[in-house]
Amino acid sequence: MGALTPETPLAEVRSIGARFGAKLKRLELQTVRDLLFHFPARYEDFSRIYDIADLIPNQEATVQARVDEIDGRRAFRRNLYIVEALISDETGSIRAVWFNQPYVRNVLQPGRTFNFSGRVTQSKTGEIHFASPTYESAEALGETKHTARIVPVYPETKGLTSKGLRFMVKPVLDELKALPDPIPGAILAKNGLPDLMTALRDIHFPGTLDEAFLAKRRFAFEDLFYLQLYNLGQKIALSEEKAPEIKVDLPFVKDLLGHLPFELTPSQKQALWEILKDMEAVRPMNRLLQGDVGSGKTVIAAIAALSAAHAGYQAVLMAPTEILARQHYLTLRKFFPEWEGGVALVTASDRRLFYGHGLESAVAKEKAVAEIGSGRVKIALGTQALIQKGITLSDPALVIVDEQHRFGVKQRALLVRQTGDKKREIPHFLSMSATPIPRTLSLTLFGDLDISLISEMPKDRKPIITKAVGPADRAKTYTFIKSEVRKGRQAFVVCPRIEPKEEVSTAEIQKLELKSVKEEYEKLKTKIFPDLKIAMLHGRLKAAEKEATMRDFAEGRTDVIVTTAVIEVGVDVPNATIMMIEGADRFGLAQLYQFRGRVGRGEHQSYCFLMSDTPSQTVNARIKAIIAAKNGFELAEQDLKMRGPGEFLGNSQTGMPDLAMKAIQNPDLVKEARDEAWDILKDDKNLARHPFLKKELARFTGQVHPE
Ligand code: ADP
Ligand code: MG
Repeated sequence: MGALTPETPLAEVRSIGARFGAKLKRLELQTVRDLLFHFPARYEDFSRIYDIADLIPNQEATVQARVDEIDGRRAFRRNLYIVEALISDETGSIRAVWFNQPYVRNVLQPGRTFNFSGRVTQSKTGEIHFASPTYESAEALGETKHTARIVPVYPETKGLTSKGLRFMVKPVLDELKALPDPIPGAILAKNGLPDLMTALRDIHFPGTLDEAFLAKRRFAFEDLFYLQLYNLGQKIALSEEKAPEIKVDLPFVKDLLGHLPFELTPSQKQALWEILKDMEAVRPMNRLLQGDVGSGKTVIAAIAALSAAHAGYQAVLMAPTEILARQHYLTLRKFFPEWEGGVALVTASDRRLFYGHGLESAVAKEKAVAEIGSGRVKIALGTQALIQKGITLSDPALVIVDEQHRFGVKQRALLVRQTGDKKREIPHFLSMSATPIPRTLSLTLFGDLDISLISEMPKDRKPIITKAVGPADRAKTYTFIKSEVRKGRQAFVVCPRIEPKEEVSTAEIQKLELKSVKEEYEKLKTKIFPDLKIAMLHGRLKAAEKEATMRDFAEGRTDVIVTTAVIEVGVDVPNATIMMIEGADRFGLAQLYQFRGRVGRGEHQSYCFLMSDTPSQTVNARIKAIIAAKNGFELAEQDLKMRGPGEFLGNSQTGMPDLAMKAIQNPDLVKEARDEAWDILKDDKNLARHPFLKKELARFTGQVHPE
């Protein structure tokens, strides 16, 4: 054991030095910790040493052999330099060939013995040879790094090979000072996981594949454990706060329900009950209401808000966009036209007050702000601007946020201050989301929230006609869309998902998406639908431009909207009846289902076309799954099993470490991590007795929630 610590800069490590240090720095590997936590993506098993006589074509193998001859030449194709060696052991000899690696000639000196690991390839003449094998002296003492063992293969990074990384990692591991393990030994033992030092060694240079597996499992567990400690810690802290106890007036709620033109679905009733019960408690509600687009979340939120207002408190409902805020406002006005409690809508372009009996007035911002501040308005609706731009709320007891999962600690603090400091109270908090996140993932990402799920759609919905469309039927489909638009209907066209080969930034993906949206837009506008009004929606538009585009569509001024995969969430356009999804095979089931949910919301028959240039069995199987699915959350669970969480959420979106993302596919590990975290926190909620764990947790959360 040596003197390196996790914080040692790589440039100061003797075996790496300034030159490589600079190179690594460009890859954002700066310290010993960064390098050691740059884990292999997979392994190659070169552990068995074969006799040359036993080699067979197409096998990955290691031999230990002496170099008999070696020579290099330029090939007839001028830009190719070939090094060829003849190598042998007691059982036979074989040729090995390297392309454009002239230095190999200087390293592999005749008479010396090396390990060679690589693929045995058969040429057209039937002769076998090694194609570009990795080599390593068999005469040096000590453990091998590249051959004759299980060899780590690192994720491809620009300018750094796996071989290069192995060269650097090995000495760093050898000289690393023994590190204390942040996870208590008892927890490791109970879950059969290796300690930190063993796991670090085994994840890079495992003796067996089992050791590598256990090492990965340990680090995945560690990440999940931190996530749970963080979430449960937040939950405990919040449960010690006070909130207004909002008593449920049952006859009042029943009266509200009586005003609806429909009966709530069973899971709407259940969700409403859970929310009202939470609001009665003295500690703040922190609940996530999940349900597909169109499953009826808004009406539940509205009743919760009315219930708080009826008890004399103020409720606030915030939406991510102006249009959505307006839709929520219209919903309230439509269903409860006689309610006199006072409703305000405040967005950048629109201010309205509503005091029942059709008494709606458009007002100046100052007026709306004054009415909210005085408490005459009991329900304030708007965008996030509601709590950010100098609007003083009057004793808010319930805050509802649409399509934003987590209400930041900072935002919550804003509201606390506004309640005054005599009795420190925190409002109840409800968030709503249509993003289909499976339960195991919710538990990890939003472990501090309680969850209500609306699992079924209202009964009166007409089934959406869903079809796979191959190249042969494309023209026919366009003709059909044209005829529907002539009848007055509208259509969404979703462009294919962008799948870059290597990891690129969000900005880069947006650029690619923009290109694809523009191309589709031009094509439709000039060639396919020259007579129709077409608009574009993509991530590069400013918020106000997005709003305007979406409003034009919602109000029927455009016929077709071409969009990237990020369609404005939750917008209700009952007249839109066609959803055409290009590159349908590139989307996850849950996402396809969610797109489809944008149509089928009005009185007209709706259609969903899954376009694919390679119509296949799989597309058909997926259509069946989508049609049969009860809800998007169920499909998300399937997606998670089939494709891994990064696929439908995108790692950048969740800010989750890779390993933890993969680990979520394993619900048992999630549960173990949650149980252990709870076990620790229940007697030591501030981790006072686990100082090292506390420190590591702070480091971890700093990376994951840089708030
Ligand atoms: P979400 O916000 O979950 O996307 P909404 O609340 O906007 O969905 O509801 C979509 C539409 O369905 C609205 O027009 C709403 O009035 C209607 N709706 C809600 N609940 C029911 C129900 N139980 N039965 C019939 N229609 C409903
Ligand atoms: Mg909604």
